[in-house]
Amino acid sequence: MTSPASLDSLKSKLREIHHLHDAAAVLSWDQETYMPAGSGAIRAEQLATLQTLAHNQFTSPEVESLLGSFVDIDTGTILPNQETTLDDTAHALLRETWRDFSRAKKLPSSFVNKLERECSLAQQIWQEARKTNDFQRFLPNLERLVRLKQQEAEYLSYTDSPYNALLDTFEPGSTVAQLRPLFAELRTHLIRLLDQIRNSPVQPNTSLLTQSFDTAKQVDFGRLVLKQMGYNFQRGRLDLSAHPFTTAFHPTDARVTTRVFEKDMPSCLFSCIHEGGHGLYEQGLSPQHYGTPLGEAISLGIHESQSRLWENSVGRSQAFWKYLYPKLQETFPEQLGAVQAEEFYLAINQVVPSLVRVEADELTYNLHIMVRFEIELEVIEGRVEVDELPELWNAKIEEYLGVTPSNDAEGVLQDVHWSFGAFGYFPTYTLGNLYAAMLFQQAKQDMADLEQNIGQGNFLPLKNWLNDRVHKWGRQYSASDLIQQVTGQALTSEPFVKDLEEKFGNLYQFST
Ligand code: ZN
Repeated sequence: MTSPASLDSLKSKLREIHHLHDAAAVLSWDQETYMPAGSGAIRAEQLATLQTLAHNQFTSPEVESLLGSFVDIDTGTILPNQETTLDDTAHALLRETWRDFSRAKKLPSSFVNKLERECSLAQQIWQEARKTNDFQRFLPNLERLVRLKQQEAEYLSYTDSPYNALLDTFEPGSTVAQLRPLFAELRTHLIRLLDQIRNSPVQPNTSLLTQSFDTAKQVDFGRLVLKQMGYNFQRGRLDLSAHPFTTAFHPTDARVTTRVFEKDMPSCLFSCIHEGGHGLYEQGLSPQHYGTPLGEAISLGIHESQSRLWENSVGRSQAFWKYLYPKLQETFPEQLGAVQAEEFYLAINQVVPSLVRVEADELTYNLHIMVRFEIELEVIEGRVEVDELPELWNAKIEEYLGVTPSNDAEGVLQDVHWSFGAFGYFPTYTLGNLYAAMLFQQAKQDMADLEQNIGQGNFLPLKNWLNDRVHKWGRQYSASDLIQQVTGQALTSEPFVKDLEEKFGNLYQFST
């Protein structure tokens, strides 16, 4: 008979370990925002030490014994004598803790340390390589990282493809076999829509977005939108970084970053909305479960669904701009005073194949993801060497998007992900788009006045709905269970494709 106190002992041990992860996350946030460039090497060591400590503590005999009093350590099955005494929340806590434990246990401490160090260093080399457009500079680091990730897949073990082991880190339950047909079907629809848009007589005037916009005012406006969304600045902050991101150390400290360009107004605006969606998820997690899996986001795909829902379903909708456009005009009267709301709405929804993923529209974005998914698969499965990547990249981008990078900075070097070893991460972006459309469709069904509320700048009903349906659960449910539970459907691209058809059919005047 185990008393509830020992479940508390497990939780408090997990929280203690989480403090190490959070300390490392603060250092990583600092590395991306304010750290002096000269301290890169020591920061890599500091991060590696903290992550190794956390790993060692999590895989220690102490955790094994605490966990082992509830589950069979080899299989994760709840012990028969515990079955009936534990509630659903405890079951989920143990299921997810065992998942993390059994994965961590498979990775030797020396390997974790080596990988952390490589990632932190490679990230800094990548920044320089991208700046100087020099893939060769990054090549040795990337080669080492690919070998380490292949090794990690072997340690973790997998069925069918080593890529599945890496994918499972970011999107538990997702597999190559699931993604291939999903992406193939989606691609057919995207190409069809892209052709219709290409043949449309409607041409957005995007030059209105690339006038000169004061950068401080842009950031202030981003802050205003974040507040309006319900992002709590008492429990978060907005800073600048090269690559916008969200990081959280607790629901009371969930930070977002953006970047700002004088002559590219949508960049700062939409990264604020996007990261705001991520930030709301982190602020909406249960503080009571902090430090345990039930206080963490389900998966990157679900995380991305939150940012995409706000960025695209809300932030690029007519209702949203009905409310916000007069305010944007007030902020930039010289630039936008004479521009009609419809013209602005069309411009921010321009669809055009381009080279850079993070600046891509909501339709072609997914083609970028498919390119990366295919390349990663080739590399991790060992069919392509790392030094062949620039050429392969350019060929695939040409095939999918019909455009060709003129250099590696706007080609293979554009994304930060591989520099921190995040192979298997990219597919979660497209999954996020699909989940976002499914969730937003459901939100509209549940709240008949949703669009009206958005049009009046009242975003709180939507935020509260997401808090209640998605955020507060942490990892209580798997991604597929949560989506099924909230929308009554399994993962499908239908609502996403339907949204695109409706929106772009109207904007570009074609019928589907
Ligand atoms: Zn995101």
